[in-house]
Amino acid sequence: MGHPMFEFDPEFSDAIFEYCRQRLHVDPVPLDFGSLHANDIGSLDGLITDEGRSPTSILEFFERELAPAVVSIDSPRFLAFIPNAPTKNSLLFDMVVACSGLNGTSWLESAGVVVAENQALEFLAERMGLPKGAGGVFVSGGSIGNLSALAVGRDVGRARRRDIAAHELRFAISEDAHSSIGNALHILGIEPLLVPTNDHRFTIENLRAALANDPHPETVVGIVATAGTTNAGIIDDLEGLGSYAREHELWFHVDGAYGGAAIFSTTVRDEFRGLRHADSFIVDPHKWLFGPLDCAALVYRDPIQARRVHTQQAGYLDVLHEGTVESFDWNPSDFAIHLSRRARGLPFWFSLVTNGVNAYETAVQSSIDLAQRSAERINELDFVEVVRPASLSIVLFRRLGWTPEHYNEWSKQLLRDQVAFVTPTKWEGETVARFAFLHPNTTDVMVDEILDTMRL
Ligand SMILES: *Cc1c(COP(=O)(O)O)cnc(C)c1O
Repeated sequence: MGHPMFEFDPEFSDAIFEYCRQRLHVDPVPLDFGSLHANDIGSLDGLITDEGRSPTSILEFFERELAPAVVSIDSPRFLAFIPNAPTKNSLLFDMVVACSGLNGTSWLESAGVVVAENQALEFLAERMGLPKGAGGVFVSGGSIGNLSALAVGRDVGRARRRDIAAHELRFAISEDAHSSIGNALHILGIEPLLVPTNDHRFTIENLRAALANDPHPETVVGIVATAGTTNAGIIDDLEGLGSYAREHELWFHVDGAYGGAAIFSTTVRDEFRGLRHADSFIVDPHKWLFGPLDCAALVYRDPIQARRVHTQQAGYLDVLHEGTVESFDWNPSDFAIHLSRRARGLPFWFSLVTNGVNAYETAVQSSIDLAQRSAERINELDFVEVVRPASLSIVLFRRLGWTPEHYNEWSKQLLRDQVAFVTPTKWEGETVARFAFLHPNTTDVMVDEILDTMRL
């Protein structure tokens, strides 16, 4: 007899698979509500006991009390922040990853996982225009991806500029860089050179002007560009910044956590040509590449540089590194800030392989097209107007005459009525409304329903 926790329970397994089967079948996914009342939280009291409880009863409790108390990020009516719309195949394969206990830490333990994850990473690198040999690892999210990449950029910068004190090295970033970039630099002890921009797009002219005005331009060892800002979908001047970085031996990091997926777009791909200059790049499959949370692809032009920075050395780990053949043995743990890791790239890999590239292209393109049509629609109406042209799949717009309180009340009411989850944002100090499209099943009719609620 084995330990009771490891006994297979066929009935409860069926209950779980049935729950998952039904959930996959819900179409469209309802928005639901995110909040719990204080007395609902009380229903968890005493659940953890010495003897344990019946799994079926706790699954029922979860289904009844907890599962509805979320705003479903995969609903086609979820248009706030950046949504997440995993394909059915990615979700199903995530169950395979879970039930097989798939570990993606090292070549020794998981070669079969590593080759598949690497195939997906190499596919992305090739689309970016990076040379052969580029590669990296799937990490938990864009924030850890940015931090891991900038740690490598910092160390490479230190090695290149031994004449400058380590604490004086800086990275040039724009004021519109994602909050995780600021956090990463703070953690790494690197000061930003905050570059002012015109209309929030970081260009080579902005960089040159900022360097010309700076007393110590020589301390800048890297540039961070954004391929699709989260708030407005703006794509920085990747070509200009990237070629400048190449020429001056500066680290060029591109944060494409959200917008990088537009390398699958047929209309805006040209704006991503400068990605070929990147030393490091991130894109989140859990955003616009239709994979489940939590997953970011981190790609380096030269992964060997990253391995030098991130490999963890310990007596018990030596066996992972002995006999390493550079191009073959590949320990995903060596390329970011982590050691043990779930094989979190596999659901994206499975979805890409089974759905095919064309499906990814049409899915990404559909949100870009919907953003364009929505902006036109907004401009036809006399009570709303776009704040700036739609960019990628994001539309910023204002309701004429509204105060921030109006936007907040409206947003709450939209969710209460289960019409949509649309939250206000700030643009140049003004509170405005924002659509972030991502789910291919979001329709023009849904957009019209939302706009209708803003009428007088
Ligand atoms: C979402 C986002 C991030 C952070 O990614 P997480 O996966 O949420 O950690 C970083 N940069 C940009 C541009 C983003 O949109």
